[in-house]
Amino acid sequence: MFCLGGFVDNQYTIEGTSLHDRVHTMGEGQREDTWQIRAVWLKSERYRLIGKSDLIEESDGRWYPVEYKRGHRGEFDNDELQVCAQALCIEEMTGQPVPLGYLYYAQSHQRQPVEISTELRQQTIAAIEAVTRILDTGAMPPAVYSPRCKGCSLYAQCLPKAVAKVAQYQEVG
Ligand code: SF4
Repeated sequence: MFCLGGFVDNQYTIEGTSLHDRVHTMGEGQREDTWQIRAVWLKSERYRLIGKSDLIEESDGRWYPVEYKRGHRGEFDNDELQVCAQALCIEEMTGQPVPLGYLYYAQSHQRQPVEISTELRQQTIAAIEAVTRILDTGAMPPAVYSPRCKGCSLYAQCLPKAVAKVAQYQEVG
């Protein structure tokens, strides 16, 4: 997206945007002992992150993120990494540890806890560093076909299978 300077929607991105738009207009409020604030901008100077959260909650003096997703939990851990990145921002902004966040899946109406473990933090920071390198250099990562390509809205622009075939023919000569 950022290397090409372009973006294309598909069914999943449109449904996701629509869900987030709905969530962001719900405003803030109190639910039992929990204070809820929606559409808060989060940032981290340390990790060079900025983004709008879906929902931040405060309970017993502790803040934590709740990220909304349109479907069920997928086969990849990108949702957990996103929650962890938000937790890193909240920690930097509040100076307090964030040991737990949540994912809310709209289709199943389930809220799943995400432990902000050492391992998840390491994975998240590694992903942030990899993305930062791409943004700093502008070097587009190679298009490698994998199961994640099935739902990718950039498939028609990226054509990872075709790119691999061309490379194969060029090798054969
Ligand atoms: S089609 Fe696959 S390789 Fe290309 S951008 Fe999407 S996920 Fe990445």
